[in-house]
Amino acid sequence: MWISHATHPAPGERHNEDLVVTGPDFVVVLDGATQAAGVDTGCVHDVPWLVARLGGSLAQLLLTQADDLTDLLAHAIRTVMAQHAPSCELSNPDSPSTTVAILRRRGDAVDYLVLADSPIVLRDRAGAITVVLDDRIDHLSGYTVEAVREHRNVPGGFWVAGNAPQAADEALTGSVEISQLDCAGVFTDGASRLVERHGMMWADLLDLLAGHDPEAVIRRVRAADHRMAGQHSGKTHDDATAVLCRVAPRGS
Ligand SMILES: [Zn+2]
Repeated sequence: MWISHATHPAPGERHNEDLVVTGPDFVVVLDGATQAAGVDTGCVHDVPWLVARLGGSLAQLLLTQADDLTDLLAHAIRTVMAQHAPSCELSNPDSPSTTVAILRRRGDAVDYLVLADSPIVLRDRAGAITVVLDDRIDHLSGYTVEAVREHRNVPGGFWVAGNAPQAADEALTGSVEISQLDCAGVFTDGASRLVERHGMMWADLLDLLAGHDPEAVIRRVRAADHRMAGQHSGKTHDDATAVLCRVAPRGS
């Protein structure tokens, strides 16, 4: 696959809790959940620790195994849990967590997996758009620390990768034939907010990504965030990642 990406921390932040890992035939995008101040996570590690290890484990598995993506993700979650089980209390409901989005070529198909709010957008050769969006976190009854904790990784709530391998079974998955696929975009919510917060259409986001480059998406979201500063309840800026995938470079 031909893959191009941009990932940047929120303006003014030094650390990027998003992570992109790419290989010859795959891309993995993770967006670590920022921890609320003063909350005991039961974990001596920070969010970048979890994101780096889960991304590394997924990359190793994707390079060496052709299992389905759900199985690979469950395996990777278990691997990372084992790495900090001796030092950390993994039953803590505030244990660090991350979204996961994976796109992987396997033979004549491209497989995708989305867990939590890092969407994948597919455009077929006729221009039709398919959005793979796991927006369960947008439908909670409340967003206090307690409410989010109560609904995390439980049926009827929302699912993230961290301390529960069974979260992999909750991911949205599917496959498309390579012959049908024009291109795909993978985003963290810091970039997909162009649609979800700023009113862009998904098709236009794909046009921006594929017609320019991933950096153009980040520039557009920063400008929109700047214009709308103070008008939304969420963070004004967020770490932002955009990835463009094609089966082969344009013109080949
Ligand atoms: Zn830990």
